[in-house]
Amino acid sequence: MRRLPIYFLIDVSESMIGEPIMAVEEGMAKIIQALKTDPYAIETAWISVIVFAGQAKTLVPLQEIINFYPPRFPIGGGTSLSKGLGHLMYEMRKNQVKTTPEQKGDWKPIVFLLTDGTPTDDTTAAISEWKNNWQRTANMVAISIGDGANLHVLQQLTENVLTFKNSSPQAYKTFFKWITDSIKTNTERLDSNHAGFEINLQKDNDALSKIDLSKPLKEEFGQDTNYVVLQGKCQHTQRPYLMKYRRALEEAAISGLDLHTLYYRLVGAYQVDHTYEELSEKNAAPVKINTDELIGSPTCPCCGNQVAFAMCSCGKLHCMGDQEVCTCPWCGVEGRYGNSGGGFDVQRAQG
Ligand SMILES: [Zn+2]
Ligand SMILES: [Zn+2]
Repeated sequence: MRRLPIYFLIDVSESMIGEPIMAVEEGMAKIIQALKTDPYAIETAWISVIVFAGQAKTLVPLQEIINFYPPRFPIGGGTSLSKGLGHLMYEMRKNQVKTTPEQKGDWKPIVFLLTDGTPTDDTTAAISEWKNNWQRTANMVAISIGDGANLHVLQQLTENVLTFKNSSPQAYKTFFKWITDSIKTNTERLDSNHAGFEINLQKDNDALSKIDLSKPLKEEFGQDTNYVVLQGKCQHTQRPYLMKYRRALEEAAISGLDLHTLYYRLVGAYQVDHTYEELSEKNAAPVKINTDELIGSPTCPCCGNQVAFAMCSCGKLHCMGDQEVCTCPWCGVEGRYGNSGGGFDVQRAQG
């Protein structure tokens, strides 16, 4: 049986932490569940999941749907689209079954690229490798989650660029149903004479829309400005956690705050595991943000300590209870902590 390889290349950078990554995890499980009941998909579709943040890795190697077990998604620091693409192309090359006199090779692979941010590194080399070696031999659909993705970069990869408004749980359902349906349609029509991949968007699908690439797009590069994510470490469990803030424009206006400053409101604090370091950019330059720009302060998601936002003289953040003296889980130095009174600068993660 000829295989139809389907790759999911998924951005798991810090801004995805919390609801978005849980929705992706759930959505992936739903897709597989639905495809397992589809005779065409079972016969031909092989699926792989690759994630990227500051580093990239294969979460699920290419395999038949019947053997596919939905993965847990990790989080990392940074958005290295070039490493993500590089890893994708490495996997595609490695897995590719070519047509020989004895056997029929794979159908044209489909790639779903999901990203919510602007690449934190230079994508030029990876994009030209994609263009030269894969653009004609694979079908890519690039999906921007929310409005943070760099469409200018995505449009160089494919003419199929979609934006997904992830405003509600229902929107995620619609979105993953759309992916399931397009996989089904495309596995069904493999044998017919239609060669290309087709994107069908129902008119009532207001969560997804295709970008008109004939219009000029503005270029953006660097930091993700919709979110601020800060890394801390729990004093008791030594586990890392992330505190996520979302840009709050309207609120700043309502409460009469200075509009020339960007304000961010707390979304939540989340534990991360050891894969966070593994998937993070190694030599990212620290970027600072002042605590005056942050609204809301979380408790420690690991141990429940009242304050997740204590800063040691080493510059790192950790949790703290009501004791005055505590030991920094980053540098091991014991220190006395008080209220700083005003705002102070902290290092933000890369997004
Ligand atoms: Zn803690
Ligand atoms: Zn310290």
